[in-house]
Amino acid sequence: MTLPLSTRTQNIAASLTVAIDTLAKQMIADGKDVVSLGAGEPDFPTPEPIREAAIKAINEGKTRYTAPVGILDVRKAVCEKLERENGLHYAPEQIIMTSGAKHAVFNALAALINPGDEVIIPAPYWVTYPELVKWLGGTPVFVQGSREQDFKITADQLRAACTEKTKAILINNPCNPTGSVYSRQELESLAKVIVEKDLYCISDEVYEYFVYNGSFVSAASLDGMPERTIVINGFSKSYCMTGWRIGYDAAPAPIAKIIGKIQGQAVHHPSNVAQYAALGALQMGNASAIAMREVFQKRRDYMVRRTSEILTVPAKVPDGAFYLFAPVQEFYGKKTPAGKTISNSVELCQYLLESEGLAIVPGAAFGDDTCVRFSYAASDKTLEDACDRFIRGLQKLS
Ligand code: GLU
Repeated sequence: MTLPLSTRTQNIAASLTVAIDTLAKQMIADGKDVVSLGAGEPDFPTPEPIREAAIKAINEGKTRYTAPVGILDVRKAVCEKLERENGLHYAPEQIIMTSGAKHAVFNALAALINPGDEVIIPAPYWVTYPELVKWLGGTPVFVQGSREQDFKITADQLRAACTEKTKAILINNPCNPTGSVYSRQELESLAKVIVEKDLYCISDEVYEYFVYNGSFVSAASLDGMPERTIVINGFSKSYCMTGWRIGYDAAPAPIAKIIGKIQGQAVHHPSNVAQYAALGALQMGNASAIAMREVFQKRRDYMVRRTSEILTVPAKVPDGAFYLFAPVQEFYGKKTPAGKTISNSVELCQYLLESEGLAIVPGAAFGDDTCVRFSYAASDKTLEDACDRFIRGLQKLS
C-alpha cells in the first residue's frame, strides 16, 4: 500500500509505561530474569466480593448491550460515592462509565477540544496526557512544577501560561509520576485562576485513596468549579482491577451528553460484566483501598530509604499515589562496563534493563529527563530485589 496513514496518529508517541510493562512481561514469559516496577499495577488480587459480583452478573445473563453511558445502578452508586466521599453533587445522567480512567480522559478531551485549542498540563505529567491532546488536534502547554515547589504549579504560573487559545487545564491529583498532592489551599488558588480565565478543568483523581500526608480534595468541590470540571476516576488502582478496564467521567450535564454520544459511536459502552464488578466495588466501600494505602506507605518509605543508599540527591518523599520519582542525573556522563556513555533517562533505563533485568520508566516519558520512575505497588520481595538491582547497576557505572 502506498496511501499514507493518518498523520495525526503517526505523530503521537506510543505509551512508554505500557511499552515497558509489555516488554517486561514478555521477557518474564520468555524465562528471562526480569523484575518490573514499570507500570503502576497493584500486586494484590481483585477483592473477592468484586469477583463474585462479576460471576453473578455473568450467570444472570448480564452479558448484553447496556446504554452507552452504562447501567443505571452503577451510575447511581458512583453518584452516592462522589457525594459521600468528595462532597460532589451529581445526577446519574452526569456519569459515564468508561473502559478505564484513560478512556475517561480521552472522552473528556474529545468533548472539549477544537483544533488549535491549548490545554495546560502541569509537568511532570502522566505520559498519556500530551499525546491525547495532540491526537485530538489540541496543543499541550506545559507548566513546570519544579522540585523546589514539590513538583506542583502555582496560580501565578498558571495565569502566566494562559493565552486566548487556552481551553482547559488537565490536573492529576495525586500525581503520577511525582506523588505530589495539592492541598485545599493550593487547589483553591489554582481554581481562582481557572474561574477567572473561564477554563475547563479535567481532574484525574484515580489515586485519591493513596494520600499519605494531608487529605484529598477534589477540584470539583471548590467554588465555581462544578460547572467547569470533569472528574476522572477508575477502579484499576483502588480496587486492583487493572485488567477489567472500568472507570468513569463525572461531568457537567451538557458535557456528559456529548461524552455519551462519543461513546455510543466509538465503543458503545464498557463491558457490561465489568460494570457489575464496579458496582460490587462501590458496594464494598473503600476500606480495602485504605488498608492498601497503609501497605503502600511502608513500601514508599522503604523505596526512599533504599534508593538514597546510592543517590546523592535523594528522591522527594511522595505524599500520594504509588510512584517514586528519583533523580538520577548524577549518573549521566558515566560509562557502562561495555563502554557506552549514559546520557539520559532512556539510556539509563535501557542499561538497567539489559544489564540488571530491572524495568523502570525513564523520566523523559513524563517530561523530566533528570529522573526515573519506580512503581512501588509491588510486593516487598520484588521491591527489595529491584532496589538491589538498581544499586548494583549504578555502582557499575564509572
Ligand atoms: N497508569 C499506569 C502507569 O502510569 C498504568 C500504565 C498506563 O496506562 O500508563 O504506569
